[in-house]
Amino acid sequence: MGTSKPQGCFVETTVWGSLELHIYPDAPAVVRALSPDEPVILNRPHAAARAARFFAEKFPGKSLYAVKANPSPALLRVLWDAGITHYDVASIAEVRLVRSVLPEAVLCFMHPVKTASAISEAYAVHGVRTFSLDTREELDKIVAATADDAGKVPEDLSLCVRLRVSSDYSEISLAAKFGIDLADAAPLLQATRQVADCLGICFHVGSQAMTPFAYVTALERVRAAIVDAAVTVDIVDVGGGFPSIYPGMEPPPLEDYFGAIHRAAESLPVSYSSELWCEPGRALCAEYNSLIVRVEKHRGRELYINDGAYGALFDAAHLGWRFPVRLLRTNVSGTASEALRPFSFFGPTCDDLDHMDGPFELPGDVAAGDYIEIGMLGAYGAAMRTAFNGFGAGVVVEAADEPMASQYLGNRRDPRHSDNVVSLR
Ligand SMILES: *Cc1c(COP(=O)(O)O)cnc(C)c1O
Repeated sequence: MGTSKPQGCFVETTVWGSLELHIYPDAPAVVRALSPDEPVILNRPHAAARAARFFAEKFPGKSLYAVKANPSPALLRVLWDAGITHYDVASIAEVRLVRSVLPEAVLCFMHPVKTASAISEAYAVHGVRTFSLDTREELDKIVAATADDAGKVPEDLSLCVRLRVSSDYSEISLAAKFGIDLADAAPLLQATRQVADCLGICFHVGSQAMTPFAYVTALERVRAAIVDAAVTVDIVDVGGGFPSIYPGMEPPPLEDYFGAIHRAAESLPVSYSSELWCEPGRALCAEYNSLIVRVEKHRGRELYINDGAYGALFDAAHLGWRFPVRLLRTNVSGTASEALRPFSFFGPTCDDLDHMDGPFELPGDVAAGDYIEIGMLGAYGAAMRTAFNGFGAGVVVEAADEPMASQYLGNRRDPRHSDNVVSLR
């Protein structure tokens, strides 16, 4: 494994190449074996591999994994082995990490604002040839940072201009920060075409896009940009945003997204040999992790648990995201339990912000000492842990059972019923 430690203070017991691999059948088995005092992250490599194969086989183009969603080296290897060859990296630390774990991976530096030193190290040391940008300044920076001593611009750059598109159909907006407005795009596309071997247009519809229509409207804007600028475009990159399943958020099947993107991209005025790319983060890793927490205290409708806003539950605290939960009860015999009731969670730190509204549906008699499994935390969950306030230690193990929800198990609704699904927020 590389030298980085992307999962906070967690100790990975599933070390590559060692015999220490602990594979448990499921979360109850982990609790029975470890009675853990600290939260436990469960890895499900089979779930991530299934997601990767799905994108590699069914997306009508190339799928880049957006590393920021979960940079665990073990996960990177799973995705590589399942057919993901391209990686969307956003910082020089991510470039070095992926390069150290996957020496042959193709790395694409898709953050539109980079330092000159990051660009030149990525280009000269790590073989990165694809960069994104949304300003003339960034284009000049890329050219200067990759030129040789004589000032000659390399002839092997793939440069993707990031277009601002609407986040109206997504749960998390990525529209405010990056992307050039359509009205200003033509001069930048023309200037980029002058220096790029391959010219791309990329965008991001926002994370957890709840309808394929998000991509269709964004691709209409791409069409307008191409027509305005009258340039030859070699890469159309539809970004991330592919949804996963959470309580209250059941998106249409991913086949619907792929079909809509395929049809919209087919009709674009691009070069005959152009490529279609996507950059899924969440969709490739959401099912990879769940988390076991322990209830330390019960007060009315509130449960005090040992992970929270500064741990893997950042989105639950700060975005009001709901995750599936189930009680792992070990200290009672018999299976009868009270009816489900809505609970909110407090995390372990001394900070009032360390609160997750939920609601999380659990049996009414849940009590201190009970364990809870919180599912679908592989994307922007396991990767977000901090050591704030002295919390954040724990272990990582592997589980063989299925994630609490899946886009890939083939038991979804008929795609034809999905036409009028829209964002629930
Ligand atoms: C975060 C990000 C992604 C991944 O987004 P998801 O919603 O997790 O699929 C892809 N591309 C870029 C440029 C990003 O910033």
